[in-house]
Amino acid sequence: MSILSVHGLSKNFRGLAAIQNVSFTIEPRSITSIIGPNGAGKSTLFNLITGYLPPTAGEIQFKGKRITGMATNRIAELGVARAFQIAKPFRDLTVFENVRIGALFGKAGPRDVDATTRRGLELAAMADLADRPASELTVGQLRHLEVARAIATRADLLLADEPCAGLNPTETAAMIDVLRQIRASGITVVLVEHDMPSVMEVSDRLLVLDAGAMIADGPPAVVSKDPRVIAAYLGTPDA
Ligand code: ADP
Ligand code: MG
Repeated sequence: MSILSVHGLSKNFRGLAAIQNVSFTIEPRSITSIIGPNGAGKSTLFNLITGYLPPTAGEIQFKGKRITGMATNRIAELGVARAFQIAKPFRDLTVFENVRIGALFGKAGPRDVDATTRRGLELAAMADLADRPASELTVGQLRHLEVARAIATRADLLLADEPCAGLNPTETAAMIDVLRQIRASGITVVLVEHDMPSVMEVSDRLLVLDAGAMIADGPPAVVSKDPRVIAAYLGTPDA
């Protein structure tokens, strides 16, 4: 059974069709990347899945349960977590204490809080920084902190918004390793990412959005050769 199922999803902002009749399913324990040019609707899609925005039409199911129109905290409690590109940690707290907040307020409430916190830190390769104040972290380390916090909510589905943006090649490789480790732990990952080499390397599958419509869906090696995808990126007329 798929963990996430999106059917006929649309979102209009006044006259603009930001998401147009999009349907797809996500298999458990996979990494799927959503790619597409700026303004394609990638962040809007995340906002719809997390309940941050209500859709204009369509349905979203998580683990077979309809979540369309649910409040963001209810969706989070069911096991959907989002890692934001700009982490806003509590700067005066340590890394451990920041991640612990995810464990306290996550799915199933405050239980096994310290063990869950440690698991989040380990999966995000942050265990050796546990006692550091968040204020001392680099941009790359803050990204890991944000992923650790999201995982510590005991999420089954992690939505990661450009986790590699602005990272140097070493940091990018470390983040890719973390995403693989998260998948290996049984968590499903959906990624929005611009860095194409990373996307090609880590993804089991690519979904391509262009002007709100899904124009391709398949394995990276196939999708990257699709003339419509190439046209969307190069800005040439429809292939
Ligand atoms: P992407 O993340 O792929 O760059 P977005 O989902 O952010 O694209 O945006 C898709 C389109 O919807 C863009 O044209 C953007 O300007 C518009 N848009 C996004 N959010 C809003 C909003 N809250 N209100 C109005 N228009 C929005
Ligand atoms: Mg975006």
